[in-house]
Amino acid sequence: MARKMLVDGELHSSAGEETHYDFDLFVIGAGSGGVRAARFSANNGAKVAICELPFHPISSEVVGGVGGTCVIRGCVPKKILVYGASFGPELEDARNFGWQLNEKIDFNWKKLLQKKTDEIVRLNGIYKRLLSNAGVKLYEGEGKISGPNEVEVTQLDGTKLHYSARHILIATGSRAQRPPIPGKELAITSDEALSLDELPKRVVVLGGGYIAVEFASIWCGMGATVDLFFRKELPLRGFDDEMRAAVARNLEGRGILLHPRTTLKELIKVEDGIKVLTDHGEELEADVVLFATGRAPNTKRLNLEAVGVEVDKTGAVKVDEYSRTNIPSIWALGDATNRMNLTPVALMEATCFAKTVFGGEPTKPDYNYVPCAVFCIPPLSVVGLSEEQAIEQAKGDVLVFTSTFNPMKNTISGRQEKTIMKLVVDAETDKVLGASMCGADAAEIMQGIAVALKCGATKAQFDSTVGIHPSAAEEFVTMRSVSRRIAAGSKPKTNL
Ligand code: NDP
Repeated sequence: MARKMLVDGELHSSAGEETHYDFDLFVIGAGSGGVRAARFSANNGAKVAICELPFHPISSEVVGGVGGTCVIRGCVPKKILVYGASFGPELEDARNFGWQLNEKIDFNWKKLLQKKTDEIVRLNGIYKRLLSNAGVKLYEGEGKISGPNEVEVTQLDGTKLHYSARHILIATGSRAQRPPIPGKELAITSDEALSLDELPKRVVVLGGGYIAVEFASIWCGMGATVDLFFRKELPLRGFDDEMRAAVARNLEGRGILLHPRTTLKELIKVEDGIKVLTDHGEELEADVVLFATGRAPNTKRLNLEAVGVEVDKTGAVKVDEYSRTNIPSIWALGDATNRMNLTPVALMEATCFAKTVFGGEPTKPDYNYVPCAVFCIPPLSVVGLSEEQAIEQAKGDVLVFTSTFNPMKNTISGRQEKTIMKLVVDAETDKVLGASMCGADAAEIMQGIAVALKCGATKAQFDSTVGIHPSAAEEFVTMRSVSRRIAAGSKPKTNL
């Protein structure tokens, strides 16, 4: 087959090359990025194989599963639990809308868990079908690289299979990390948190990132007592400080006990749970302790050192702008490269990979204006620059527009929880540099705002857009007065 490929930075035709390979592409890891890369490469005419461990839907001992972290033990099951946890407070809010909830409202954790597992199994099947429909050969086993064009797959029964491939793609994702705290084996990570046999009554969460605030919200919404410990003044380091403060207020308002500037010193097994000692000398007991202290690239077992693939000190595979490693036939994408660890970013990198290597169209992923959301309750969603980043990066003055308001639903329900929205604008060009929102449906609203920012929208264009009334989203086009103007050269008040 005559096919254009990117080889040594140049496009060459592969027609007439003599070396025979079992496959044009062998992908290790069938998560979001790996499956997308495999399918799109196959659609471009490549002969593709992919390997992934089979998964057991309710055991967290065997990792793996076609669909990867996002589908099996990440975004999807987490969002199902967020939906589940949201109903409790919603039912309370419903009372002032005239609903009489006469009977005791009970929450059945096992039922939700089963529904969640059924959905994951269904999605796992869909992902497998997507691969076979694209003509991709799936090997169920653990892959490792045995040479620049060689892959070894170890199946669960120990059988080893060997294949050659013109290109190898590392798409092995990341794994949750546990800090070296005495008694750390008593804690769980998000992997186990998604499949607990019993709903815990007392939970301690360590960490202030995405996973920490999301699970704190989930358990709190389901009625548990939640203590959240994090090292900084506010959770969600790296996000806009004003938004971080809003999230902290909302978490507290929902009943989560925040412990800023505090970490855990030791975990001790006691009769009815885990005793938790903090570095401030506090002691408390919990049924479950969750470590949500970051994830590391899943690259240790790939044999990269022996093959000469360069990794950084976190284990992330080093790649160029096209996702190619220092070994020309080996590529990597997604969390394994630790660039921007989000499923849709891995999908973008995979699309670019398939275009570059098998589509005759070298394409670099574009990391500008990537929106994201933290699914705490209520959620936070952002796109573009935070106020602090804008102050640091903009050449001229920065204009900040904010709107903090009581959403209409809360005026009736009586819930004391403000929604906050923010636009950060370049004073000279009028270009909107960043948008943030903390409040109901933030992720749904921000996706549309992201399109506008990607198109280079100005504040004047936001202002000339007609609002949808009555909605919270219309605030984004009605923020008329500047909340503050920050002079060029100012330093952001950050590192909270
Ligand atoms: P994050 O990197 O977001 O946050 C890690 C948190 O753990 C930080 O608050 C950090 O504190 C803290 N921490 C790290 N080491 C220690 C330690 N030794 N002791 C105490 N605290 C510690 O990691 P997550 O695990 O929350 O999530 C991993 C990644 O998964 C995210 O970065 C994100 O890319 C992705 N993800 C995305 C989601 C989404 O899109 N909604 C949802 C979930 C995950 P400090 O700030 O002080 O360093």
